[in-house]
Amino acid sequence: MTADDLAVIERVRKWIDEVQRVVALTGAGISTDSGIPDFRGPQGVWTKNPAAEKLSDIRHYMADPEVRKASWRSRMAHPAWRAQPNPGHLALAALERRGKLHALITQNIDELHQVAGNSRQRVIEVHGTMRKAVCMGCGWLGPMQETLERVRAGEDDPPCRSCGGILKSATVSFGQALVPEVIDRAMRVAEEAEVFLAVGTSLQVYPVAGTLPVARAAGAKIAILNAEPTPMDALAHARLSGSISDLLPRICGAL
Ligand SMILES: [Zn+2]
Repeated sequence: MTADDLAVIERVRKWIDEVQRVVALTGAGISTDSGIPDFRGPQGVWTKNPAAEKLSDIRHYMADPEVRKASWRSRMAHPAWRAQPNPGHLALAALERRGKLHALITQNIDELHQVAGNSRQRVIEVHGTMRKAVCMGCGWLGPMQETLERVRAGEDDPPCRSCGGILKSATVSFGQALVPEVIDRAMRVAEEAEVFLAVGTSLQVYPVAGTLPVARAAGAKIAILNAEPTPMDALAHARLSGSISDLLPRICGAL
């Protein structure tokens, strides 16, 4: 870590000490240190193997039982089931315990923020969660592991027990609309932020990336922590590119 980085860390840490409402926006980069690959990044699973992206496209999923069978197998094997929160997740949980965290907007579907100790009501999951299953027919919602038990028991594409409809993870797939209430809430908390931390996100997926300019326009101090440059770096008052599990505990006063 350079002296410049340490100075930036100190500056952001002071902002947080002085305010009541910190809003964090997290993306795949916060979970890579927990062993969960970034699907869309430069080294991403989808970037390197576009065929894998098909599994995540709602049209293919609804139309093709083979895509669904492959999806169930990939859900069973998902690294998130064995993953543990890393110091980056724990730092944001510590920030909440300090009474500083107004809201945590996440693009991640792994629920590692909640596992780390952030309360459910503070976490805004704009892309849903892989830990629940949903019926595309009747809207039934249940724990993903219960449905995965059925897959393990031999059902390769388990239908909804209430209506016979197609089940999938309660995530927002490609081609699927975001939940308007969830996005509205993300925009609202961004407007209320005094400090806005964008962590491990490329800030290229809309509308959620739009929370940063909203926070900035409303007067928040903006810090971007991401390995690669982002299109919004010019809007940031502070910019750091080191390891998130190293930086975030320093910034959040968890060290
Ligand atoms: Zn159903």
